Amino acid sequence: MSAVRRPLPEPLIRVQDSPLHGQGVFAARRIANGTRVIEYLGERVSHAEADRRYADKQVSDNHTFLFTVNTRTVIDAGVDGNEARYINHSCEPNCESVIEKGRVFIDAIRPIEPGEELTYDYQIQREPDDPPDIDAIFACRCGFGGCRGSMLWPPRRRARGG
Ligand SMILES: [Zn+2]
Repeated sequence: MSAVRRPLPEPLIRVQDSPLHGQGVFAARRIANGTRVIEYLGERVSHAEADRRYADKQVSDNHTFLFTVNTRTVIDAGVDGNEARYINHSCEPNCESVIEKGRVFIDAIRPIEPGEELTYDYQIQREPDDPPDIDAIFACRCGFGGCRGSMLWPPRRRARGG
């Protein structure tokens, strides 16, 4: 028996230290606008289970491996996750997260040059039980001109009452 060996295609992305935060994901070769780069994988759990798992986490550690899919499901990329969990947030991203039939994909929204870091806007939703320092916990220092200073969405807590 003989098998024809084709060279493996060069991977699209690689994980390395990031100037934004911890490790990040970088383009290993040019990525065309609209490319579906990677699926965000991990264990699918309920919100209650995700809260239970990370209740003891240091609040100053904002590196989250959780992705909210909908009101029932959270993907915990800390369990069986892939490189997608290392993609950092920025306020002027070159990718976006797309939810399709309960699955989460990261798509390029403009051409990305080799060596460029991939980012998407986390748009973490505000919850009524957020601690008062939630904006400090999820502070953004992406450094882009349009940085809103927070990974949360909407950017500012809405003023209540008068
Ligand atoms: Zn920012």
